[in-house]
Amino acid sequence: MSTPSTTTATWPDRYAASMMGTFAPPLALLVRGEGCYAWDDEGTEYLDFLAGIAVNSLGHAHPDLVATVTEQMSTLAHVSNYFASEPQLDLAERLQRLAGAGAEGRVYFCNSGTEANEAAFKLARLNVVGGTRPRILTLVDSFHGRTMGALALTGKPAMQAPFDPMPGGVEHIDSTIEALEAAVDDTVSAFVLEPIKGEAGVLPLPDGYLRRARELCTQHGVLLILDEIQTGVARTGEWFAFQHEGVQPDAVTLAKGLGGGLPIGALVTFGAASALFQRGQHGSTFGGNPLVTAAANTVLAVIERDDLVANAARRGEQLREIIAGLGSPLIDGVRGRGLLLGVALHEPVARELAASALAAGLIVNAPNDSTIRLAPPLIVGDAEIAEFGRRFGQALATL
Ligand SMILES: *Cc1c(COP(=O)(O)O)cnc(C)c1O
Repeated sequence: MSTPSTTTATWPDRYAASMMGTFAPPLALLVRGEGCYAWDDEGTEYLDFLAGIAVNSLGHAHPDLVATVTEQMSTLAHVSNYFASEPQLDLAERLQRLAGAGAEGRVYFCNSGTEANEAAFKLARLNVVGGTRPRILTLVDSFHGRTMGALALTGKPAMQAPFDPMPGGVEHIDSTIEALEAAVDDTVSAFVLEPIKGEAGVLPLPDGYLRRARELCTQHGVLLILDEIQTGVARTGEWFAFQHEGVQPDAVTLAKGLGGGLPIGALVTFGAASALFQRGQHGSTFGGNPLVTAAANTVLAVIERDDLVANAARRGEQLREIIAGLGSPLIDGVRGRGLLLGVALHEPVARELAASALAAGLIVNAPNDSTIRLAPPLIVGDAEIAEFGRRFGQALATL
C-alpha cells in the first residue's frame, strides 16, 4: 500500500513540484472508476467518453478483468522471455486468428504503442527484397509515438524539431491517392499509416485509399504496415479497421485498447513479413509477460463473448444520431467510425468545449482546435449514450 501523503500542499502543487513538465497540468485527480464513469477526489462524477484515450475497452474496473489480473498476479506475473507462459501463447494465437493472419502470422509483444512502431520500423529496415530500400513512407500529420523511431515516422515536424536529427529515410506524403502513386517505388521498404488519423483529429483516408496502397505495395515489394494502435481491437466496429476495406496488410501495430488499461503493445505480421526478424534482432524485458497477456486475453474474450465489435458499430451510429439531434449550429458533422468519432466544429473552440464538457461531468478531448474526440468504452449502452447527449448538450449551450 502507498503511504498517504502527510503534506498539506494541494495536488496541483504536488504535481508541479514532482512531475516532469512534459504534460499540460492535469484536469482533475481521479480516484475511482466503474464502467463508463470515473470520480475525482472531491466526489465529482464524470461520464468517461475518452476511456484513457481509447485504452479502457471494457470501461473501468470490469469484473472479469479485475478477476483475471488478481488471479494472474497471485499465480505468475513475470518470467522474462527466457520462458514461455500460457497467457502469452493464448494471446498470440488469439491475435493470429482475429487479425486473419492465420498459421503464417506471427506476434511480437512489447509494452506500448510507440514500441510497437519501433518494432515496425526495424521490420521495415529488414525488408531488402530486390536490393536496398532506403525510403520509408508515412503520412503528413500522422502520429506514431514519441520514441525516436516512432517520432521519425510521425508526420508533425514541430514535434520532431527539438530532437533532430531523426533516424533517416522517412518521407511524409499527403493523404491522397495521387501522392501515394507518385511516391511508391522499388526504393521504398515500407509504408506506415493509420487507417484513421486519430491524433490529427479522427481523419479518415479517402475512399479506396487502402486498397490502392495494398496494390502498389504488393507491386513494388513494399511492406504495408498499419498503425492500428488507436483503431484496432474492435474500436471502429470491426476487430481491426483494415477489415472494413477487405485488404490484408503485411503488419499491424497494436496497443491502447488491447490491455484494457494494462500496458501492452504488439506487432502482428502476415505472410512473408513473419520471417524477417531473426533471433536476437529485437526484444523486450517486460514484453508479453503473463500478467499483461492474461489481461489482454480477457479483454479480447469479453469483446467476443459480449459481441462488443457489433456494439461499437451500433453505438457509433446511435452517437451520430444523438449528436445530430442536438441541432447545435457549432457542429459541422461527425467523422470516424464505430466508437472512434471526431465531432467537427465550425469554430476553433474545441478546447473550450472540452473544458465545458468536463464542467458538465463529461470527459472528452480536443485533438485539434476544431475537433472533439469521442472514444468511449466498448461496453457503452443506452443509458450512457442518453447521458452523453444531456451533458454534451449542456456543454454546447455554454459556448
Ligand atoms: C497512441 C498512439 C501511438 C503511441 O502509443 P503510446 O502507447 O502512447 O506509445 C502510436 N500510434 C497511434 C496511432 C496512436 O494513437
